[in-house]
Amino acid sequence: ESLDQGLAKTKEGVFKKLSRAIVGKTTVDDEVLDNLEEVLITSDVGVDTTLKVIERVEQRVAEDKYLGIKELQGILRDEISSLLEENNSGDTVLDFESPLPQKPYVIMVVGVNGVGKTTTIGKMAYQYKKAGKKVVLGAADTFRAAAIDQLQIWSERVGVPIVKQQMGSDPASVAYDTLSSALNSDADVVIIDTAGRLHNKINLMNELSKIKRVMDKVIPDAPHEVMLVLDGSTGQNAFEQAKQFTAATEVTSMAVTKLDGTAKGGVVIGISDQFKIPVRYIGIGEGMEDLQVFYRNEFVDSLFG
Ligand code: GDP
Repeated sequence: ESLDQGLAKTKEGVFKKLSRAIVGKTTVDDEVLDNLEEVLITSDVGVDTTLKVIERVEQRVAEDKYLGIKELQGILRDEISSLLEENNSGDTVLDFESPLPQKPYVIMVVGVNGVGKTTTIGKMAYQYKKAGKKVVLGAADTFRAAAIDQLQIWSERVGVPIVKQQMGSDPASVAYDTLSSALNSDADVVIIDTAGRLHNKINLMNELSKIKRVMDKVIPDAPHEVMLVLDGSTGQNAFEQAKQFTAATEVTSMAVTKLDGTAKGGVVIGISDQFKIPVRYIGIGEGMEDLQVFYRNEFVDSLFG
């Protein structure tokens, strides 16, 4: 799916609400600002980020009292885009084609079950492979047999090797094997799946730090990236999960999935702003190709036209 198609529900929702917010208006007055606040909040941008955006729009209005309603959309677009830029600066790796900063480049993927973690790993593997990079997958979510099976299916679908052990084995040991195998096979990218059981926070924390410690022994400084996968259609739950995972480990990037199935894609803006962690990818479908690099301008253009 194209970005516009993938975000169609959100776009339509935002557009409809925006039109309702400004109906019969010629200038940006208090009522318009109130309505705008509601549009953003009901699009799951989050209260804090919404207030920040409204404040910026207010400032622009204060500078130009007779600001026309026609300009509002453009202003909104600019302000949100610059907000996203502040939060996404310092990006090193974005697209799949650019040379990676390390070889092998090790990405550890975290997130609760069902958010689309395995699917996102499969899609990333597909994109990296397509870009000519050699990929190895590691099935370190050893807690559920289904998780290992699903990753296996993706590895066959994409045509990249997978390192796995039996269900119930030590995730750190799988990570160790995966990194060793990656070194032996001269791989460019390693993507490691992990279990996401949030109900036991201390366990989660210990498990993730143990995996990281072991990785660091095979390849100093690995993992180079810890990616948190969030389901964009779950709104406030996604915020809550981000809070918990960032408390449990150092998350360095995010992928937000299932944006095709929701009218509340504004969650990407809020989460990026609240956690100051760059969103690298967005998932906009179940297919292999339905993962897009998150380019803030394209994203905001898609939403606000
Ligand atoms: P995991 O438990 O986190 O590994 O989740 P899975 O990768 O197994 O995904 C759970 C379900 O969400 C599957 O049915 C996926 O096809 C679906 N899914 C994942 N990403 C997306 C997405 O971007 N859009 C849509 N519509 N479905 C997705």
